[in-house]
This record gives sequence, C-alpha cells and structure tokens, in this order.
Amino acid sequence: MPISNELGNAIDAVVDGEREALAKLSGDIHSNPELRFEEHKAATWIAELLRARGFEVEHGLAGMGTALRARRGNPKGPRVAILGEYDALPDIGHACGHNLIAASAVGAFLAAASVADQVGGEVVFLGTPAEEGGGGKIRMIDAGLFEGLAAAMMFHPFDRDILAHPALASVWLAMTFRGAPAHAAAAPHDGASALTACMDAFRLIDGQRVHFRDGVRVHGYVTNGGQAVNIIPELAACEFSVRARTVEELARVRAIVERCASGAAMASGVKVEFVAREGYRDMRNNMTMARRFGAHLESGSSGRKARETDDRVGAGSTDMGDVSHVVPSIHPYLAIVDENEALCHQHRFAAASASDRGLATACDAAKALARTAVEVLSDEPLRRAMHEEWRAGR
Ligand SMILES: [Zn+2]
Repeated sequence: MPISNELGNAIDAVVDGEREALAKLSGDIHSNPELRFEEHKAATWIAELLRARGFEVEHGLAGMGTALRARRGNPKGPRVAILGEYDALPDIGHACGHNLIAASAVGAFLAAASVADQVGGEVVFLGTPAEEGGGGKIRMIDAGLFEGLAAAMMFHPFDRDILAHPALASVWLAMTFRGAPAHAAAAPHDGASALTACMDAFRLIDGQRVHFRDGVRVHGYVTNGGQAVNIIPELAACEFSVRARTVEELARVRAIVERCASGAAMASGVKVEFVAREGYRDMRNNMTMARRFGAHLESGSSGRKARETDDRVGAGSTDMGDVSHVVPSIHPYLAIVDENEALCHQHRFAAASASDRGLATACDAAKALARTAVEVLSDEPLRRAMHEEWRAGR
C-alpha cells in the first residue's frame, strides 16, 4: 500500500528544510577529499549534523574509526537502513560523487526518522567507509551490523537515471614471477626472464577473451618490470582486476587467468606466485523495492522517470553488492550530468559532484529513498514480496 500524500509531503518538507545543511555537508566533503578509511573530517561533519538534530551517533564501528550509525524508532519492529558513502579517489578527488551520496543519505534518514514513530519500525543511518577498494561494508556485514534488516538502500550519482544497474563481482590478483638473473649481454643464456613470463601472461589472457561471458572485465598493469637494462629480470610482477556479472563466472575466469600466468611461467622456466584479494560481490538489485523507489521518484516533486535498466552503459563494482547478498537492497543511479557527458572517475564528474544540479539530484534521491524506507516499514506484504524475491535469487 503506497504511503499517504500527507506522509509523503511531510518527508519532502524535511528534505527541503535541510537543503542548506545538506549543501554545506556535501560541499565541505567535496572540497576536503579523504581516501578510504581516512574519512575523518567527513565522518565528523556527518555525526555533528545528526547530533545537532538530536540523534545519538555511534562513531567507530566494525574496527573502522570512520564508520557511523544513528537510529530512530522501534528496533523491535521492521528495520530499514539508509547507507551513506563519503570516501574520495586518489588525485582526482570526489570524482565518484560520494559527497552527494553522503548528503542524500543524511537527508533521507532525517526525513524518514521524522515519521518513524508514526509508522512503526526503525530507520537506521549507516555511514559506510572505504567503498573505493576498501570494502567497509563487508567489515560491517562481518560485524553483524546488517543483521535483522528488512532492507538496505542508497543512491549513486551517474549520467542517467536507472533503477537497477548491475555491479560486477570482482577479485584482485597480484602475480609475482621469479626467474634467474644474468648479464643481459655477456651471458643471457644463463638467465630466465621473469619479465618475459609476465608479458606472456598478458598475451595469453588476451587470447582467452573470446571465451569470456558478456560483462567480464580483465584488466591489469605491470607493477615491477625488472631491475636494470643489463640484467635479465629476476623478478617481475603485475596486478589484475578480474570482474564478472556473477560469482560463478568470476571463479571460472579467475581460474583461466591463473592458468595463463602459470603457462607463461612454464614457457620461460620461471616460477609464479598469486596473491588474491577478494573484491566485491555482484549487485542483486531487489526489483520489488527498486520499482517502489522509481514510483516515489516519479510521483514526488522531481517527477523524474528512471529507466529500469540500461545495458548501453558499463558497470563497475561496489561493496553494496555484498550487502545485497545479505539484505534485500537497492542501489539506483541518478543523473548529475547529461547522458554521456561524463562518467564516474573522470574530472568532469568531480566538478559535477559540486554543482547545483548535483545537489538537486541528491535531494531528489533523499526524498525517494525516505519515502521508500517509510513504505517498506509500513507495508508488510511489500516486505514479504521483497524478501521472497531476495530468497529466490540466492
Ligand atoms: Zn562510487
């Protein structure tokens, strides 16, 4: 059952009333970019704003000083979490717009919390550090912070409005090749080149791309290319990121990549070692909830009509994928630039993340997230349908 107009208007009014505070928060975070796990200023500013509105804020959770939690309502009823990210990228700053994610999540939380006692259940704000390669949400899952939640939600800035976009399962593979050094002119026949094996690994992997399923990404770079021009390289190293739409395809492609590296090492008579760092899981968008978000987005003051999906645009990876495996989740994208004008991790996108249009989108997202959260709290059949879909996807 959709929420009443009265409730919807009350939610929108809170977001509108907080617009200046959200603009300041977003702007401050944008002009002070902090890398993963070091988002101390951002976390402090978010906590200060929530405390100023009368909330208790837990600061430092799951072993991370910059993780946050605030709550409002009855924890014995259904519980819904609204997630905020606030980490930046090296050199390029807030080119992923996480400052806007933080502002929208705080706005959505304040709005949903303002009616939580009326609808029953609990609204939870989770400040989740280190999305850019640190996996803060995974640590928070391991610490039990997502247990018992009916739903988790956030929004991400983009170049178009999409309710449910895939995110790829991923793993990082570091490879170290060890050969035998020799004088490269006087006695090359005595050496075994680790660099030759390293470069052959790239070529062999490229040759296997024809066997990858749609959506697979394998991209690498050389991290150690040898020691000196007159030494046959004793040591060479590279790192690959392997991504796929499902964890099953990821495991299959990872095995192919390792096989190629082993084959390359064998050809050069050198050894190879792998160190894997688990990446993120694929995003399982809960369509039941995503469509409700879309309906609220369209019926609200913004009137934005989002596409359900759009396979013309590529996908990255996010630790929200991991969350979606343990709780019914949504991760809709909303435009802060025109289509194809710029994408995440580009300089133009960093500029757009500080624009008025960026802030307006964060406020649109805050309203639709809050309305969706309140509807999930107040609608038991909806929660059941979301849970059924989530369980069927496992
Ligand atoms: Zn991002």
